[in-house]
Amino acid sequence: MPTPLENLISLSHLVGTPDLDAAILGEGNTSIRVDADSFLVKASGCQLGTMTPADTVHLRFDRILALLEGTGAVDEQRLSAAYEAAKVDPRQAKRPSVETVFHAVALSLPGIAAVAHTHPTAVNMLTCANGFPANLDGRLFPDEVVVLGQKSLFVPYIDPGVILARTIRDLIQGFRDQHGCVPKSIYMQNHGFIALGTTINEAHAITCMAIKAARIRLGTIQAGGIRRLDAAIATGLANRPDEKYREKLLAGGK
Ligand SMILES: [Zn+2]
Repeated sequence: MPTPLENLISLSHLVGTPDLDAAILGEGNTSIRVDADSFLVKASGCQLGTMTPADTVHLRFDRILALLEGTGAVDEQRLSAAYEAAKVDPRQAKRPSVETVFHAVALSLPGIAAVAHTHPTAVNMLTCANGFPANLDGRLFPDEVVVLGQKSLFVPYIDPGVILARTIRDLIQGFRDQHGCVPKSIYMQNHGFIALGTTINEAHAITCMAIKAARIRLGTIQAGGIRRLDAAIATGLANRPDEKYREKLLAGGK
């Protein structure tokens, strides 16, 4: 069975491959839950597609989640101190990604163990459009329902950092209250995408399906407009036992 570190490297290479066009240069970041107290996250500045174990940081949840308290901005001094205090091994010199706090939020959700945040070109054609978020709302085809969940969560533009993480935390809570489940797919206005998976295979599958769905949506806009599945059909697909079984298979054993 792969270690959490091996899983983080695998997930990063899967979503960072140039073929997927989901992240270039230092874009995007990934994380894996290690246990109830700690998680691994990509270090700031490295590339997903070529990530090595030296490009990861092992952090404790409690120190990172403490940054969510309050409402004001968190200054650089407090942020750096929290990152250092959170390091399970203080000898790890690299600074964790600027988006570490929302990874900690996502990995604290029930069942979520692998998170991939990317900036896919096709997805961002829609998150950066005037039509956002309506252009990503609803479901167009059965696999979009099965892999991305019946509904996605939409986040307005906020600069990366603690205030964005607090907003994501609050929006996820609202989503759970409304729909009774954790979102699998989060679209961020003028920014990118977050895949929340139970496994690295699922986080990868969600990322791939979001890219495919974005391409299809872009095509439909040119071909007369988006034709969504009826909400009742999407609900039916989400609850079909054979689709639930397929969803489980997609998540795989990792
Ligand atoms: Zn980002």
